[in-house]
Amino acid sequence: MNIILLGPPGAGKGTQAKLLEERHGLKQLSTGEMLRAAVAAGTETGRKAKAVMDRGELVSDAIVVGIIADRLDAADVKKGFILDGFPRNTAQAEALDRMLVGKGLKLDAVIEMKVDDEALVERITGRYTCAKCGKGYHDKFEAPKVAGVCDVCGSTEFTRRADDNEKTVRDRLDIYNKQTAPLIAHYGSRGRLKTIDGMAEIGDVTRQIEQVLNAF
Ligand code: ADP
Ligand code: ADP
Ligand code: ZN
Repeated sequence: MNIILLGPPGAGKGTQAKLLEERHGLKQLSTGEMLRAAVAAGTETGRKAKAVMDRGELVSDAIVVGIIADRLDAADVKKGFILDGFPRNTAQAEALDRMLVGKGLKLDAVIEMKVDDEALVERITGRYTCAKCGKGYHDKFEAPKVAGVCDVCGSTEFTRRADDNEKTVRDRLDIYNKQTAPLIAHYGSRGRLKTIDGMAEIGDVTRQIEQVLNAF
């Protein structure tokens, strides 16, 4: 099963993609995570992307299309993949359409997660991640069971993204509305789009996604 999670920053794409990985053996392909790894490793791609990401703007289509093209050839996506944060504009969606045809792959569903802007700002400004295993948390909505200790790996170190501040979030939402939201029509016209209520609590959102996937 190959799916896209489509939604604004903070919609819960990463949270749900990780749950789907565990339950269905699908592979999460997050261009944001791959780019942050490139920045941390100081690769050429990372050096090109860093300032752009800190401003909340989109890195070049050539970079992200190249990253995804390579990942789709790897063995670990053969059981299926979840695209998280890609595509983000019409040019990327068209590149993906061509890539999938070329590789003999098909998309089963594009799941649009709808969340109000004010809720997104609250989600993003409270977001943090385990520095060791990458598990995502939230100050208010998803705190670790024991304060300050990661549920998954026991680490006590956490990180916050440089771009997860209110000013940059509003710019990222603006870019989403202008450049990414048109993809709703792109996939709607191809009969692939399913829209779910991303305002619900995490477990409820998972159940809505499972309902979409169960239809296959
Ligand atoms: P995205 O990958 O779409 O940017 P995340 O999955 O990182 O979003 O979620 C953003 C923040 O909101 C995280 O801190 C996460 O714990 C929290 N979160 C995710 N889903 C929900 C939800 N349904 N309700 C409340 N908070 C959520
Ligand atoms: P969020 O889930 O909060 O929207 P991501 O982790 O998906 O954030 O992306 C973080 C940043 O990485 C984006 O603001 C952008 O600069 C860059 N990025 C990620 N995916 C893409 C993409 N498909 N095209 C261009 N830039 C991207
Ligand atoms: Zn951890």
